[in-house]
Amino acid sequence: MPEAKEYPKMKDIYGSLVFDRREMKQRLPKDVYEMLAAAIEGRQKLDSSVADTVALAMKDWAVSKGADHWAHWFHPLSETTAEKHAAFLTADENGNPLNSFRGKDLMQSEPDASSFPSGGTRSTFEARGYSAWDPTSPAFIIRSKKGGTLCIPSVFLAYDGSPLDLKTYLLRAMQAAESRAMKMLKLFGNRGVRYVHATVGAEQEFFLLDRPRAQKRPDIRFCGRTLVGSPPPRDQKMEDHYFGAIPARVLSYMEDVQRDLARLGVDIATRHNEAARCQFEFAPKFTEANLSCDQNQLIMETMRKMAREHELRLLFHEKPFQEMNGSGKHINFSFEDSEGRNLLKPSTNHRRNVIFLSFLSSFILGVSRHFGLLQASVSTPGNMYRLGGHEAPPFIISVYLGETVAGMIRAIEEGYGDDSVRPAKGTLDLGLPKLPDIVAFDSDRNRTSPIAFTGNKFEFRAPGASQAMATPVMALLSVWAAGLDEFIKLFEKRIDDGEDAVEAAIQTIREVSEMSRNIRFEGDAYTEKWHKEAEGRGLVKARTIPQGIDLFMEPSTVKMLEEMGVFTKKELEAFHTIKLENFVKNIEIEMSVLRDMVWEGILPAISKQLILERDSCAAAEELGTEGTDGWKQILSHLAASKIKLIKQTQELAKLRERMAAMTTREHADAIVDSAVPLMAEIRRSADSVEVYLSNEIMPYPNYRNLLSLS
Ligand code: ADP
Ligand code: MG
Repeated sequence: MPEAKEYPKMKDIYGSLVFDRREMKQRLPKDVYEMLAAAIEGRQKLDSSVADTVALAMKDWAVSKGADHWAHWFHPLSETTAEKHAAFLTADENGNPLNSFRGKDLMQSEPDASSFPSGGTRSTFEARGYSAWDPTSPAFIIRSKKGGTLCIPSVFLAYDGSPLDLKTYLLRAMQAAESRAMKMLKLFGNRGVRYVHATVGAEQEFFLLDRPRAQKRPDIRFCGRTLVGSPPPRDQKMEDHYFGAIPARVLSYMEDVQRDLARLGVDIATRHNEAARCQFEFAPKFTEANLSCDQNQLIMETMRKMAREHELRLLFHEKPFQEMNGSGKHINFSFEDSEGRNLLKPSTNHRRNVIFLSFLSSFILGVSRHFGLLQASVSTPGNMYRLGGHEAPPFIISVYLGETVAGMIRAIEEGYGDDSVRPAKGTLDLGLPKLPDIVAFDSDRNRTSPIAFTGNKFEFRAPGASQAMATPVMALLSVWAAGLDEFIKLFEKRIDDGEDAVEAAIQTIREVSEMSRNIRFEGDAYTEKWHKEAEGRGLVKARTIPQGIDLFMEPSTVKMLEEMGVFTKKELEAFHTIKLENFVKNIEIEMSVLRDMVWEGILPAISKQLILERDSCAAAEELGTEGTDGWKQILSHLAASKIKLIKQTQELAKLRERMAAMTTREHADAIVDSAVPLMAEIRRSADSVEVYLSNEIMPYPNYRNLLSLS
């Protein structure tokens, strides 16, 4: 653990490594600042004539903070982040050293694209790509031991303009959703609103283990999860862990992470223990969608680095431990207008509440039409082991509203909007006296639903902890944009027919809530009964992860994403290919690591234990000891398990050979149908001998060892 030092106060360091508006205002001429601010708010494109001025100010700021390099920082389709560092330092013609960073360096850079996945959109001979500054996310400095790098958040494109990153798709989806949200507000007659931003805040779950112990296990090292081992009976969970005191060692780690993140302008709002042993959660303060996705990458990166310093092993895997809770990334989202109003906040003001219900209904409508895309967006290798198990939401998408809001919708559906029963204009009561209930409902919310309304925002709980947020956020915003589109068409028609906006909206809400009833479910989504019912409602389109990935290519999804301007069909094909390849590669690694762990560790351990027991049992019998039958049974079990494991791993090897000849799609199915069940069998065989192995012979730290932080 790093030695104790005097820590600065959070307040004093907050944002100190971000080139934020404060810095911009101070360091830029007023007109340049105004242009940049307009670009940041998405009101106008950045004029390249100001680039040199901005670059100079940015460089001076960065150098004053100790940075000596700069890099365009982007999210390749492989879900991590990438940066290629270039030094500020150059020399003039006389050999005098000087720091240089020009406008064109800021605006555009040309990392070699050939090492990043493209899904086949680009042939290798045209391996060039370029990254371009995204001014909506501020530049920041990543400090290293001896210097630092100015990171410029960027998008990454191939030379033909096709995106090689996640951010471009995300920005397009934001554009689609935010422009329609603006249109909705205009229809309600809102004039003063300058823009609407999608807001996102993600709760990040993770496990922390003692590093020296964890690194003794190849499965943790290479896969981030255990491939053998299981919790000892009656030791699965310490019920008092959740919201219990955070262990001192973890707290010290969290404090260091939070301080480094504060410098980067990332505000961690809450931290606590999670349901499983050694599991924890961080939640940052929400912010604009793309910034929030960038911040989540920074959070994960900072956590990884700091874990090493604290001799901890950090796991973001969705299911590191058998029979224990997995880790998710709950994505909370809403819209906020330029006046700071949350558009998903119920209101006691009638008109505002109708606006709220219009946005809410639009989202539900979008989900009922395009839930396949949401499912696709969380179809990742890690989620294969998590979704539907131990407190994770099921793979079937549904929306939970909670009693209060479901009641408002019901009131509208049941005819409050009908002329005959409608109270006098403007006094329509949408269950508003019940509003205080929202507070109560907020605390006992339904945790089994993959998408839930939680009082003033929606929460998507299916995304996995290790996922880059950009894909699920892109999916959510595209779906919302499509829902808004359909809602607005109906709404607009009524207004054109002369209806008052609020009345027209109520009628439209009624209309669309009937259309989207199939996706709403208020019950327990974990039950078998719901799974049957969901099937009847037509909500089950994919049962496996590869089928889920295929939903990216569902014709209605392709059409919608094209209409919303988020993906072209060609781009989507490439995206789909990458997701499938990534799935296959991931599980392939698990297969190979499992094979090695069995042959290098478990089989030799069984032999050692077997010889030890055989010799001692024989010695006991020589002494005339009676009652060795049970002992011999263990001997037989060890021997039989060894034979079984040999056979099973040989099967695994054969399976891998067969897979090598398959197409990616066949390969993915073979993983689900054959590899995963076989790996589970191997695990069962290995786990059945674990209890008979002595501490010295045990090849890898077991669960009890691994899940202890002392
Ligand atoms: P919960 O409701 O799950 O108990 P919190 O209120 O702590 O949780 O919020 C969880 C996450 O939701 C946080 O990251 C928070 O910033 C985010 N969040 C809260 N309000 C919004 C909003 N209007 N838009 C997007 N995210 C939000
Ligand atoms: Mg939450």
